[in-house]
Amino acid sequence: MTDSTHFDAIVIGGGPAGNDCRHLPLRARLNTLIVTDGVAGGQMILTHEIANYPGVESISGYQLSNIMKKQAKSFGCVIKGNTSVESLNLEGDIKEVTLSDGKTYTADSVILTPGGRSRTLGVEGEAKFKGRGISYCATCDGDFLPERKLLWLAAETQPRRSCFTYKICHQGYHCPSV
Ligand SMILES: Cc1cc2nc3c(=O)[nH]c(=O)nc-3n(C[C@H](O)[C@H](O)[C@H](O)COP(=O)(O)OP(=O)(O)OC[C@H]3O[C@@H](n4cnc5c(N)ncnc54)[C@H](O)[C@@H]3O)c2cc1C
Repeated sequence: MTDSTHFDAIVIGGGPAGNDCRHLPLRARLNTLIVTDGVAGGQMILTHEIANYPGVESISGYQLSNIMKKQAKSFGCVIKGNTSVESLNLEGDIKEVTLSDGKTYTADSVILTPGGRSRTLGVEGEAKFKGRGISYCATCDGDFLPERKLLWLAAETQPRRSCFTYKICHQGYHCPSV
């Protein structure tokens, strides 16, 4: 990793959105640092099969994240993994980003792509069957479960999702969740 502690742009979060900043160094000649806790790839690496990514028929989340990471590095991005951003000072022209390893980097711009988290129920077995029978994304995984009997938990305010899932599975139980 470069010794520079000042970058034109620092991207916080190495999932698909953060990786999409990969063109900055090459196309905009901006030296760019991508900081991400855990392995770069974000939620994508939890996905055993992605069949809806433009231009790619079917690929594992892990493979796709490796391709993105490799491309980002080939474009000149610096990627710092397994490090979380602890604090930000976005006042003034020069921004400060302090990491969990105690180091502080400065940048002219900070791009926030920290992603999100699926809302879990916290019930027994939920973590164990995540991605193996339990899914948090009807639009992502519904298509893999045609003709299956599904239980979907969705707040009353989410009829669209329920309809979408119903179109695919034809049999299901809707349980209004909290
Ligand atoms: C099991 C599963 C299956 C899915 N399947 C599909 C699918 O088939 N097709 C599809 O289109 N979508 C799918 N999705 C949704 C897709 O993965 C997300 O929409 C996408 O990953 C969002 O990208 P993102 O870059 O915005 O955020 P994330 O992927 O959440 O990445 C954000 C990254 O930022 C890091 N981060 C957060 N805060 C900090 C911090 N303070 N310091 C450093 N790093 C930080 C996070 O750890 C994470 O690595 C699936 C999601 C899951 C969980």
